[in-house]
Amino acid sequence: MRLEVISADITTLAVDAIVNAANSSLLGGGGVDGAIHRAAGPELVAACRLLGGCQTGDAKATPGFQLPAQWVIHTVGPVWRGGSADEPELLASCYRRSMEVAGELGARTVAFPAISTGVYGYPARAAAEVAVETLQRINTGVAVATLVGFDDQTVAVYQELLARLRRA
Ligand code: ADP
Repeated sequence: MRLEVISADITTLAVDAIVNAANSSLLGGGGVDGAIHRAAGPELVAACRLLGGCQTGDAKATPGFQLPAQWVIHTVGPVWRGGSADEPELLASCYRRSMEVAGELGARTVAFPAISTGVYGYPARAAAEVAVETLQRINTGVAVATLVGFDDQTVAVYQELLARLRRA
């Protein structure tokens, strides 16, 4: 699987699946979740209502409705509580479960936001390390996983980690 980095608004990407950093209700929120719901249209929340919520570290899919992406994979990242409340394992589980769901959908291209690094307060560099380490060890049939940075700092950290990976 190829791992890539881009600076983008994830709602504009014409990939097979985008991942949403949702909350456990799956009924919408702020940040990337709010942006995805606005861009997908009201059918998205209706579809999410049928899923009965989602546990931290798990992932569930809906269609993308009016998004250019065919699917939305909703995952629930951990709230940062200082680092000793299983945050790294739960965040890794978000990436792993999202890739498993993507594989089940037959998605070949998947884009991820920086899960948990907004309102949920996970430190950006530590979260990027979990994302890269987890994704590079997974193969669920996805051909390209794209890490989407929404701010320059996140993009720079991803680029640095991927460059290190390529040198190793
Ligand atoms: P969480 O609650 O999991 O922390 P947030 O949505 O608050 O989720 O933030 C997760 C990350 O998504 C942050 O790095 C934020 O900058 C980024 N983000 C916000 N809007 C978008 C968007 N439209 N596209 C891509 N990333 C986004």
